[in-house]
Amino acid sequence: MGVMLDDSEIRRILVINAHPDDVDFTAAGTIALWTDAGIEVSYCIVTDGDAGGHDESLPRAEVPPLRRAEQTAAAKQVGVHDLRFLGYPDGQVEATLALRRDLARVIRQVRPDRLVCPSPERNYARLPANHPDHRAVGSAALDAVYPDARNPFAFPELRAEEGLEPWTVREVWLPGGPAPNHCVDITASFGRKLAALRAHESQIGQMEGLEEFLRGWNSRVAAQAGLPDGSLAEAFQVIDTA
Ligand SMILES: [Zn+2]
Repeated sequence: MGVMLDDSEIRRILVINAHPDDVDFTAAGTIALWTDAGIEVSYCIVTDGDAGGHDESLPRAEVPPLRRAEQTAAAKQVGVHDLRFLGYPDGQVEATLALRRDLARVIRQVRPDRLVCPSPERNYARLPANHPDHRAVGSAALDAVYPDARNPFAFPELRAEEGLEPWTVREVWLPGGPAPNHCVDITASFGRKLAALRAHESQIGQMEGLEEFLRGWNSRVAAQAGLPDGSLAEAFQVIDTA
């Protein structure tokens, strides 16, 4: 493992996820601290989460605009105002060349120093943590980081037709794992993380015990990292992309 970049070296961060609300469960507390520090954070959401939720009376066609609006409101809670929705169908994402090109395009547009995306690996300890869409998005995002976005000969049309120059993302953060090596103390931003999650009203508006669930999760992470009692934390596997 290389040396982790200090936040003072980071100007822009791109967060890629499969569904609206993914980022708020895994990383919103950390993102609030980044935007507090003046770092520009952008979100790229691959699907509109149109297979999510439990309300069968809600016409499915109404779900995408609703979930985009909820994610936009959630982002605002943690200081994020640049959101890019790719509109892939929920539940059917594959790590195709088309998705790699779409993600390489966003990377070249945003030019992030650090990128956050889901792990492409299956988590046998907690199966629902790695939905197939998450794994596909993680795999395509890592391929877009290396080699696609930095290689001028990958998807040459991005440069020829859209004027998008190659870009090297220096560091990738995978929320959770599979082998977490860094922990962020989010005790101070936990309230904003909770507010961001509550903005996803169609998904978790009725969820009983959301705060207790989150506190339990984030305090276990903090305890494992040896933080003082009462601390809350989010864990990541930080990868040097060089
Ligand atoms: Zn998800």
